[in-house]
This record gives sequence, C-alpha cells and structure tokens, in this order.
Amino acid sequence: MADTIFGKILRKEIPADIVHEDDLCLAFRDIEPQAPTHVLVIPKKPIPSLATAEAVDRDLLGHLLLVAKQIAEGEGLARGYRVVMNTGSEGGQTVDHLHVHLIGGRPMNWPPG
Ligand code: AMP
Repeated sequence: MADTIFGKILRKEIPADIVHEDDLCLAFRDIEPQAPTHVLVIPKKPIPSLATAEAVDRDLLGHLLLVAKQIAEGEGLARGYRVVMNTGSEGGQTVDHLHVHLIGGRPMNWPPG
C-alpha cells in the first residue's frame, strides 16, 4: 500500500492528538473537526479502504468499531453519535488508509451530503 499521512502518524513522524492506542489500532482527533468530537480510528495494518478489506480482517474491523464505542463513552456521547467509513472517491474518501470517523456532540443530519 502507498504511504499516506496516516502512515506517518502511525510511525509518529508527524504529531497527532492521540486519544487511544493498542496493538491493533490508533485513534486521534481529526485536524478539521466536523463536530465537537471528531476522532479517527485507524488500523495499524495498512488496509487502503473497506473496499479492499478481506475476510481475514473481520476481527480487526470489529475491533475498530468497539474502540470507537469506547471512545464515544469516554467523550460523554450518551445521546448518540455517528460512525462513518468513507470508501472510495464517490464515498468521499481522501486518505487511502482505512479509517472510522467517530463524530458527535451535536445533532446529526440525515441524509448525509
Ligand atoms: P476521509 O475524507 O474520509 O478520507 O477522511 C480523512 C480525514 O482525515 C479528514 O476528515 C481530514 O480532516 C483528516 N486528516 C487529514 N490529515 C490529518 C492529520 N494530519 N491529522 C488528523 N486528521 C487529518
């Protein structure tokens, strides 16, 4: 997989506001937050997007969601939040390293743009 800005964050080559790290993933605050809480949860395994994830990644993908839930609880998002995985160019993905957006702290609109 081609290197990305998230690869540099994973290797601690550029700074990020890290809120969680374990052996499988890293979570940090989005540099352009779209809500009071906007955290990205990324796997340490370099998977470009959900479209390229495979069956072997099943547990890892579940782990990312459970970490997002854990962070949401820590952020006090008891009234709700949104998790998003933008996938591919029409899905709005701009960084080709799979990531889960955790967004909350304000009411969310539907449908999304
Ligand atoms: P996406 O558009 O779904 O691929 O999401 C990429 C996200 O990465 C965007 O919300 C950006 O604001 C965010 N982003 C880009 N560079 C950085 C960075 N250096 N630190 C934190 N978030 C970043």
